Amino acid sequence: MKSRNALAAGSVAAYAVSGRAAAQAPRSPFAVAPTFIPIAGSSEVFPVRRIYCIGRNYAAHSREMGSDPTREPPFFFQKPTDAVQIVPPGQTIDHPYPTLTKNYHYEVELVAALAKGGRHIPSERALEYVFGYTVGLDMTRRDLQRAMGDEKKPWEIGKSFDHSAPLGPLQPVASVGHFTKGAIWLKVNGQIKQNADLSQMIWSVAEQVSKLSDAFELAPGDIIYSGTPENVGPVVPGDVMEAHIDGLPTIIVRVI
Ligand code: MN
Repeated sequence: MKSRNALAAGSVAAYAVSGRAAAQAPRSPFAVAPTFIPIAGSSEVFPVRRIYCIGRNYAAHSREMGSDPTREPPFFFQKPTDAVQIVPPGQTIDHPYPTLTKNYHYEVELVAALAKGGRHIPSERALEYVFGYTVGLDMTRRDLQRAMGDEKKPWEIGKSFDHSAPLGPLQPVASVGHFTKGAIWLKVNGQIKQNADLSQMIWSVAEQVSKLSDAFELAPGDIIYSGTPENVGPVVPGDVMEAHIDGLPTIIVRVI
């Protein structure tokens, strides 16, 4: 019964967009599970439409803070919606070591979730589009990513695979505000591996939303992985990762 209801809801939404009556919604031979992220302090959930990720968004530790006149335009890639793996605070969630890789890397990142969409959003107004934030891991089959890059082939197999987007429940802006500074770190088996500050992001969340909206029409349900600081590295089965951003609940993931 649950799957029938989910399917009907999806069909109605699709047909509402196309302007046709819900009664004409097509029937499908099977149901496709939608992706939701829990909303902290709420019985509601956040439906995920697209997962965007920004690449190389932290300056070297030696670089001074503030604007960087040499900065290049940001670039983005996507992960499939169903790559999401929910990590409730206070729990240690098992995360499957993926196939095909021998160099599986963590990347701790601030994740912003959008409640409004649009095109050509000015950065001064971009934060009005953000619903909330959470801590995420942009898990990466680094060997495959590099090999594909070397061959000038798409990154998908290195970045956009099953379970590659662990993240915590969304913390609404009304509760946690916006994030322009604060510690971001990742530990493996209790040892600090990545340790930086959000203020070291080359492109702020507001600028990321603005730049993304020049390339894509953004929509409610889109989420943005805002890039990882330096010192990414490998994990193997048995390793436990703790990912933290000041002001957000820490997430804990065990590789199995
Ligand atoms: Mn990343």
